[in-house]
Amino acid sequence: MVCMTTFSYAGGFGIGPDMPENINTVNTFEGVNLTWGKSPESDGYKVYRRLPEQRHSVEIAEIEGADKNFFTDKTAESGKKYEYSVRAYKDIFLSRLSERKELVRLSQPTIEKVTLGDGCIELNWKKSAGAEGYYVYKKTAQGIEFLGNVKGDNNCFYEDKDVSERKSYTYTVTAYSGESRSSHEYKTSPIFVGTPKITSVENTGKSITVKWQKPKFADSFVIYRKGNNDTQWVKLKVLSSEADNFIDSDVKSGEIYTYTVRAISQKNYSGYNKSGVSLQCLNIPENFSAGNYNDGISLSWDAVEGAESYNVYRTYDKTTEIIGQTASVAYSDMNVEEGKTYTYSIKAVGFKSDMLSDSTENISCCVLKKPLNIAAVNMFDGIQLYWEKSNSATGYIIYRKNFGEMEWTKIRTVNSRNTNYIIDHDVQKDRMYMYTVQCVKNGVLGSFDVNGVSIRHIPSLGIKATLCPQGIKLQWSEIRNSSGYELFRKTDGDADWVKIGSIDASQTACIDGNPIYGKKNNYVVRVLFSDGGFADSTVSSAFGIDPNKPMVALTYDDGPSTEVTNRILDKLAQYNARATFFVVGERVNKYSDCLKRAVSQHCEIGNHSYHHKDLSKSTAEEIKQEIISTNTAVENITGVYPVVARAPGGAVNDLARENAGMPFIFWSIDTLDWKYRNAESVTEKVKNEVKDGSIVLMHDLYNSTADASDILIPWLTENGYQLVTVSEMMAVKGIEMKDGETYISGY
Ligand code: ZN
Repeated sequence: MVCMTTFSYAGGFGIGPDMPENINTVNTFEGVNLTWGKSPESDGYKVYRRLPEQRHSVEIAEIEGADKNFFTDKTAESGKKYEYSVRAYKDIFLSRLSERKELVRLSQPTIEKVTLGDGCIELNWKKSAGAEGYYVYKKTAQGIEFLGNVKGDNNCFYEDKDVSERKSYTYTVTAYSGESRSSHEYKTSPIFVGTPKITSVENTGKSITVKWQKPKFADSFVIYRKGNNDTQWVKLKVLSSEADNFIDSDVKSGEIYTYTVRAISQKNYSGYNKSGVSLQCLNIPENFSAGNYNDGISLSWDAVEGAESYNVYRTYDKTTEIIGQTASVAYSDMNVEEGKTYTYSIKAVGFKSDMLSDSTENISCCVLKKPLNIAAVNMFDGIQLYWEKSNSATGYIIYRKNFGEMEWTKIRTVNSRNTNYIIDHDVQKDRMYMYTVQCVKNGVLGSFDVNGVSIRHIPSLGIKATLCPQGIKLQWSEIRNSSGYELFRKTDGDADWVKIGSIDASQTACIDGNPIYGKKNNYVVRVLFSDGGFADSTVSSAFGIDPNKPMVALTYDDGPSTEVTNRILDKLAQYNARATFFVVGERVNKYSDCLKRAVSQHCEIGNHSYHHKDLSKSTAEEIKQEIISTNTAVENITGVYPVVARAPGGAVNDLARENAGMPFIFWSIDTLDWKYRNAESVTEKVKNEVKDGSIVLMHDLYNSTADASDILIPWLTENGYQLVTVSEMMAVKGIEMKDGETYISGY
């Protein structure tokens, strides 16, 4: 009841009841609570209130009863400062107005939430409008502990970090404004549970692994995740108290995921890291491979969804380093040394440089560079390919392709470092082939020259060097598409081939009119092609014999025999001289070493029948048998098929001539060495009768004949005679030998 009365003024004259004293004001939950000292004679009290800017107080309540000395102002607005005063009344008389008591009304900041935060306890309270701030207190065994001053009436939040696991705490909050305080209320927290601390979030294979440090007490853990577009945390899984990691396999490469973890202890949930820890999911790069290419190590892998680039790691000598970063899915490490083994791995890199995928497996690769100086050469029966040995390789692989083909075909594997050549027999005449070679070491394939070497297969030019009266005649088979030929010569002992002529494409023969006399002349014919390519023939040789100087053919029958034949060969070798040995077929296997030596010294092997049989008394069949079996035996041992024959005893008839199939060689000087066995008579006979073109008959069975040869060979040489074979002499003299004909000399 509000009632203004004019008698209030009269109180000043002592007519009314006593003035109330000891006015006290305090904020309570409901409002401002006023109390005052009783005025025992009064009928009641009137309560006045005024805002500081108002001149007059306003009566806000009338309370009946002298004992009722209290009042609660429920209409005061929080944050406003009021002055309260009281009068006692009796009948119509009023006491004087009490002293004025100031107070800022502050509503109670009731704690609405006490929750567990990330390593703290969080308090939220109701705003006390108009408050300057709040004082926060905690109740402890020692009493009430002041925690902090939170300024501003809108800041209704406090975190208490000074908390221990398995304990609960009681808090209260008071609003303040100047000297005024609000009422307050205590609130007790749940028992505190520590928050698991996330230590790492990493890509592991095709999943993401979250690891955390466990709080002291936890009964279980709960994992939450937010995807790219999620605003709310999604609960992923509850894990037992032992767990300190979680593998999230339900992830997609390229997406960003954020994780947070809570602990549960005695059914209370811990707080959690509200921003969480984020990671871009990046799958492990697949199909990672490493191999030799172009003298470096070439790496490749499959692209990873969401990756911006890739880190390339190399380990060598126990040190791992990043050797490159690339946006592509391949990398070449050119900074490598031959024979060394390097180990590589790859990680995908996301939109931030520290967001990495898991590492690929380590792949090791040994550096095997291209074989050097690969060369291809035409052979009689194929193409020979050779290259420099590699000290790193355990073998080689040889590839071939036909001209114009794209793909190399493996044609050969060589399992030895030291076998640095092959012959490819599977080739066709006049075709172009390309070859390349790759080193191999324990299954590791090396780099190879992708261009390789090219060669046109010229199987055989059939080059043949033969003596003729003008010098040495060279013949070869015609090569289609050739644009000409070049002739090269080298004598034994010379280092280099010398070009001695160019030959028109229409020719397939020429004569070297100036061979080096007394030496073996070796020839190569080079086929030229209009495209600039060329192919060389194999080598053919002939001795250079001067047709303008005298010559003699020494012949020895009935051998070979070890001691005598070798003595004769020793002397021939000493004078760079040659002779013709007419051998008996049944002896050649037993004395094969002598035979081989004679051929190696460029002597001629002739046919002296197989059983030293009188051919003039033999049947046609026997004649053929005697001749052919001897030639075959000689060819089997020496590789040379004889082209001249001498009948035993010089006995031939028409049947022998018709069936021998070879020219018969007689003699112009018969030394009768077999009869006298005397070196002197042999040498005298020869010295007396010899002339240019002589054919001398001896037998390499007797030491006396070897003694005679020791004298004759030097003597003849010193007297200007060239010691040649029968075939050489006939060729130089221009005598064409025919089968079945007999020849006595070169003149
Ligand atoms: Zn004989």
